[in-house]
Amino acid sequence: MNMRITGIGMTSPRTRLRMIERLREQGIRDEAVLAAMYEVPRHLFVDEALASRAYDDVSLPINFNQTISQPYIVARMTEILRNGQPLGKVLEIGTGCGYQAAVLGQVAKEVQTIERIQPLYERARKQLRDLKMRNISVRYGDGGIGLPELAPFDGIIMACAAPTLAAGLREQLALGGRMVMPVGMQEQWLYLVERDKNGFRETRLEPVKFVPLLTGKA
Ligand code: SAH
Repeated sequence: MNMRITGIGMTSPRTRLRMIERLREQGIRDEAVLAAMYEVPRHLFVDEALASRAYDDVSLPINFNQTISQPYIVARMTEILRNGQPLGKVLEIGTGCGYQAAVLGQVAKEVQTIERIQPLYERARKQLRDLKMRNISVRYGDGGIGLPELAPFDGIIMACAAPTLAAGLREQLALGGRMVMPVGMQEQWLYLVERDKNGFRETRLEPVKFVPLLTGKA
């Protein structure tokens, strides 16, 4: 455990347990997700100056105009993806600080995550390596087209909002696989796409607010 801010309360088991209790009140039911949210030290993924707010239910800036999602949405997307079952291979588009990837790493066998902003990619990779989260691979690139060379995936999570329900990505789902992604510009909704032998099923879930999916590397 990184020692830089231990001993002053904000990383204590009690602080983390409060977050878990709040997630339960907000409707998160999956015990595996709640355990993962308890395990991952969220304060290490934000700037030191913001660490005291890391377990509050807020999104926080992570530089380059990007944000780490609030705990509720990370838990909710993970719960939807998991659907009460262990996950095999998962793809995340939009690593950001690597927090969602770390949570996914607790409930999936293998996580591939892609980030288009190089300094964010480098920082996330280092953070996940320092935490010895060895089942997570961080990649630098434009994730908009997914990762066809490693498909199929049991789960795909998009951490940024796409203008439409990207048709190409769903082809990278395994049979029985699930994709969770925010869709829309001003008004955004979380969507679930499920694949089975008969094809795809789309479900609109709840309103959300994400940074946009952009193209190319930066
Ligand atoms: N899951 C992240 C949330 C990061 S915000 C976390 O836990 O911190 C969304 C991220 O998506 C941003 O870092 C942004 O740079 C990235 N992003 C946007 N478009 C992308 C693209 N085409 N490919 C890869 N990453 C992208």
